[in-house]
This record gives sequence, C-alpha cells and structure tokens, in this order.
Amino acid sequence: MNVFVVNCGSSSLKYQLINSDTEEVIAKGLCERIGIDGKLTHNPKGLDKYESSEAMPDHKTAVSLVLEALTDKEHGVINDLSEIGAVGHRIVHGGEKFAKSVVINDEVISAIEECNDLAPLHNPANLIGISACRALMPETPMVAVFDTAFHQTMPKKAFLYGLPYEYYEDYKVRKYGFHGTSHSFVSKRLLELIDKVNEPSKVIVCHLGNGSSITAVKDGKSVDTSMGFTPLDGLIMGTRSGSIDPALTQFLAAKLQVSLDEVITILNKKSGVEGISGVSSDFRDLEAASKDGNERATAALEMFAYRAAQYIGSYVASMNGVDAIAFTAGIGENNITVRKMICDYLSYLGFELDEKANANRGEEIMISTPDSRVKVYVIPTNEELAIARETLELIG
Ligand code: AMP
Repeated sequence: MNVFVVNCGSSSLKYQLINSDTEEVIAKGLCERIGIDGKLTHNPKGLDKYESSEAMPDHKTAVSLVLEALTDKEHGVINDLSEIGAVGHRIVHGGEKFAKSVVINDEVISAIEECNDLAPLHNPANLIGISACRALMPETPMVAVFDTAFHQTMPKKAFLYGLPYEYYEDYKVRKYGFHGTSHSFVSKRLLELIDKVNEPSKVIVCHLGNGSSITAVKDGKSVDTSMGFTPLDGLIMGTRSGSIDPALTQFLAAKLQVSLDEVITILNKKSGVEGISGVSSDFRDLEAASKDGNERATAALEMFAYRAAQYIGSYVASMNGVDAIAFTAGIGENNITVRKMICDYLSYLGFELDEKANANRGEEIMISTPDSRVKVYVIPTNEELAIARETLELIG
C-alpha cells in the first residue's frame, strides 16, 4: 500500500509518498509560501525534479497540486489517487486526549480542535491539512500521528510544574514534550541494537536539530523529556532560548519596553545559539566561525553541549542508570564536533568515545568503544517513515 504522509505548517506542506511494503519513498516534496504566492518542489524517485510556481491561495489548492504532481504523466509516480491507500497526518499537539495515533473521524477532528490553544501556530495548520485531504480524497482512510503522544506515559512527578495544581486542572498546564514520533522511532531502533526489545531497559534519546529535545525512555516508554508545555523549554536551540529563569520575561519586557508576546517571540526566534553567537542558528556556520576564532560562536557551542550533557545526567539520575544513548536529527546525526563535546562529559558513565566511528555522518553507527559500559549510537531519525508505519498499523 502507498501511504501519503502530510506535514502541514501555517504556510507550508511537506509530503512523502511511501510504499509501505518496501518502505521506499516513491516521491517527496514541499509546498512553500501557501497563501502568499506558492512554490511546489516535487521529487519523484527515479525521475527529474519538478518545480512549479502555480498560485497556492490556500492549503486545499496546495494539496490538489501535489496530488496532480503525483499522478502526472511525466513526473508522476502513480496512475491515479486510488493508488494511495491511506494518509498519515503529523499533528503537533494531542494534549492529554491522545496517547497514541488514531484513525481520523469527525470526533477526532473536534478533539484536535480542542487542543488548538495549546499549539495555536501549529494545530490549526495541521487541521487545515486534514480537511484539504478529506475534501480531495473523501474515501481514503486517514490517521493522525501526534508529536506529543509518545510522552503521555510520563509520570505526574515529571510532567507537573511547581505551580498551583488548579492550573493543571483548569488550563491543562503541564509538560507535554514534543518530537515524540522521532523519540519513539529512535528509541525502538536503539532497543533493537542493544538487544533489549521487551526487556527492562533505560535509554536516552538526544534529538538535536534546529529544535532539540532529549528524552528518557524506560522499558520503551517516555518517562521524561526536556521540552515542556511548549517546544521553547529545555535545551538551548537554533533560535530558541530553552529553559531560562521565568522572571526574566518580566525583566526583559520592562527593559526593552515590549509586550510579553514580544518577549516570547524573542525567546523563540532571536535567542538560542543564534542570539548568543550573533552568527547563525546553523551549527555548520557556528563551527566555522568558532574555528576562525569567534569567541561568541565558541561560547554558543559550549553552552549547547553543556546543557545537553546536563539533561543526559539528570535523566541518568531519573532512571537510576542508563544502558544506551542515541544521537539523532540534523546535529545529532551529522555534527561530529558537537557529539564529541557532549560525549566528553560522559566518562563517568563508563563510556569512551570511538573517535574513528564518530567521524561518520548521517549513518547508523555505534560511537562508543566496545569496552564502554554505556553504548552510544548515532541513529538517523525518519519521522515520515514512522508516521507511515503508524498509519499502516491502524489502517492495514
Ligand atoms: P534539523 O532541524 O534536524 O534539520 O537540523 C538542522 C541542524 O543540523 C543545523 O544546525 C545544521 O547545521 C545541522 N546539520 C545538518 N546537516 C549537517 C552536516 N552535514 N554537518 C553538520 N551539521 C549539519
């Protein structure tokens, strides 16, 4: 069966068509600038890339152009829409309502809508993607896969904040965690690699990309994670501050003479390694600047690694031990220097870095020496494949 995986943002739509038997990506692409002008980049497997600037006033038009591209005589990969057996939608926030993926129906859509104020930028866009696909493929079964669902197994002691309890009851104020599809996918693979599937296990997954989070996974279940009520919390990221003293929001609003909304925008978009370095949010640029002697770029890299090492340490404490650690996502898979900087903090675990293995990028590999007590791996994440697998499991 072919599964159409859709990841809808407010002005973008990323998609992949995956053959679920072979797990091969038969086409993938991106619609950008939806509602502005519109640009489609379509990459069919084995065929030339196709680009179009046809207008995309809304998401329905974008989905329709993608479906046309998929079925086109020249750059298409299927004959007609009946060859799409199911659609898997990435949904950012499932609140406490969704602890796993679900088949989409009207009730599910209403429940996702009820989570909108927990993710006001993302969930409405995800819902638009669902309704656009439903309008064009009314008979095709669809599944919602939530970024938050994997973390619903966290215990109360991990997910509650030290705030009046009524805020949890009345407003659902709690830690939710994100990147759940990636943490689930990578932790499952890690358990296979260390031969502990269905056995007691303690592992930590470091999803380090432009957005970054670290998750403690005990016996296959998320027991704590570094992102919080929103994806702003935890690690220092590309442009996000990560955890800061909450009193700073008021202090900065007063000093900068801006609203709280604007302070939050600064914390989301102008902070992190970009704000610290003044160079870039991209770790390749940071590394290059640091090599050229830029002290703020060096500080940004050191702060990123230090914070990551602190979270790893705190999750070793939470689980009272760790069997294995995985690095994934753009930085975790590719940035040799940052991996080493983090690993340099981990010798207390009986871990030693295999420098030769760590010199690899983007491939699954063990980077701990064979004698290390704690195994450390690089495991490429694949959120689209994870969504396709979940979809197939519910539909198949
Ligand atoms: P993501 O959000 O997972 O796409 O990750 C983006 C981050 O990954 C950026 O900071 C990139 O610098 C980093 N990254 C991606 N590819 C490479 C690479 N080949 N070498 C070093 N860093 C990389």
